[in-house]
Amino acid sequence: MSHNDLLSLLSQTGAWCKGHFLLSSGRHSDQYIQCARLFENPLHGEIFGTALAREFQNCVVDVVVGPALGGILLAYDVGRSLGKRVLFAERADGKMSFRRGFCIKPGEKVLVVEDVVTTGGSVQEVAELVRQSGGNVVGIGSIVLRRSPGVDLDFSVKTLLEFEVPSYAPDSCPLCSQGIPITKPGSRTGKTA
Ligand SMILES: [Zn+2]
Repeated sequence: MSHNDLLSLLSQTGAWCKGHFLLSSGRHSDQYIQCARLFENPLHGEIFGTALAREFQNCVVDVVVGPALGGILLAYDVGRSLGKRVLFAERADGKMSFRRGFCIKPGEKVLVVEDVVTTGGSVQEVAELVRQSGGNVVGIGSIVLRRSPGVDLDFSVKTLLEFEVPSYAPDSCPLCSQGIPITKPGSRTGKTA
């Protein structure tokens, strides 16, 4: 699938929405990305998992790890495509950890994946956890890299799609000044806030 095909699939599935959104940071934006929507149809998850696995086809990988929740389904689809083991890391008492008996063997080559990377906080925590467990991080991959204007990541990530999403303080939001109703994404009712 081409970059444009992946982009239109992201839009068709409702994983990429345009409108006027209240972000969890309190800022406003004209775009919202919710990759969970992609995985509603397992065939779409497989398409993105296969495409991301292809980015790492020249890389030796033993295990694919994703952070809960966003990375679990993607790690599964990437791992299935690569034919490799899949684990997920989850936050316990505020700290990213392996639970449920998941572990990395010393020297294992680990690919870390996440659906949306913004600041990269979660993937970097998972990468650190992998290193502490004795594994080698051989790559970091994402479906979407959501860049904030003017912010550079201090690690490398292979991404299928890259967005630069503008956000605005509520008192200087151009969408507010046009009187466009704002939506809080992910709210149960989906009603405007
Ligand atoms: Zn606004």
